[in-house]
Amino acid sequence: ATPTALMAGVGRGAQLGILIKGPDALEASRTVDTVVLDKTGTVTTGKMTVTACRPADGFTTPELLRFAGAVEAGSEHAIAAAVVTAARAELPALPPVERFGALPGLGAKGEVEGHEVLVGNARLSADHEIAVPDDFTAAERDGATAILVAVDGRVAGHLVIRDVVKPSARAAVDALHALGLRTVLLTGDNEAAARVVADEIGVSDVRAGVLPAEKAAVIEELRAGGARVAMVGDGINDGPALATADLGMAMAQGSDIAVRSADMVLVREDLRVVPDAIRLADRTLRIIR
Ligand code: ADP
Ligand code: MG
Repeated sequence: ATPTALMAGVGRGAQLGILIKGPDALEASRTVDTVVLDKTGTVTTGKMTVTACRPADGFTTPELLRFAGAVEAGSEHAIAAAVVTAARAELPALPPVERFGALPGLGAKGEVEGHEVLVGNARLSADHEIAVPDDFTAAERDGATAILVAVDGRVAGHLVIRDVVKPSARAAVDALHALGLRTVLLTGDNEAAARVVADEIGVSDVRAGVLPAEKAAVIEELRAGGARVAMVGDGINDGPALATADLGMAMAQGSDIAVRSADMVLVREDLRVVPDAIRLADRTLRIIR
């Protein structure tokens, strides 16, 4: 592409809310044939809410929220924010957490009032040989993110958390398919929750339960198979995957790491900005050459 074409692309991008970091990004967007979409915070709003508290026998809802809320107050995850909001709505104050530890892709842990507390998904429970209750699994099958709370190795109950798919997501995926692109949904969340979102937006290829460190490997694998991959993400977890992709696109409201790792920054929250970005490069470069 000529410098004039690139300048035109960058300018048109800015008008559409697409910040292009360099000429390579615009070039790459023309040859991309696969678009990998992160689920939480990219396809969904990421504004999660606790929709149910299910204390186990011997525990009450306030106790469940006290332990979970105290630990999650130490975490920056969107799930943690939802848990803390629910806990603060129910309780006058949360006890402090000691020895807090983030467990990427799994949950979080800490000591609360002298008790060892674990908060996280089924994989975390399995790692600790803690059996999840039947209604935990049922909530996951129903498309929710279920979070188990264990106190001193004993199940204290679980929380059901829901997220909302962006209203623009379905139209964005339809537009990508109309451009002949293949789409993949990539997430650390459970398979069932991922499937519900995938069905809602019309994506059939789902990679769920992918640990943060493995996200880049999924991109590598697609590239090794001959695909030219665009990755769209927002989280700290997505940084390496964004950097590995032929074209990394970060949601502007996302984490600094995502924005720094990407080749393009998408300022519009409307997900149709993704097909716009791909069409834009193609058109600008084809017309002005
Ligand atoms: P995503 O790829 O959807 O952005 P993450 O890799 O950040 O997701 O997290 C994957 C899963 O790990 C979450 O769906 C949740 O089950 C669990 N998880 C991660 N962090 C936390 C936390 N602070 N509290 C509870 N669960 C968590
Ligand atoms: Mg995300």
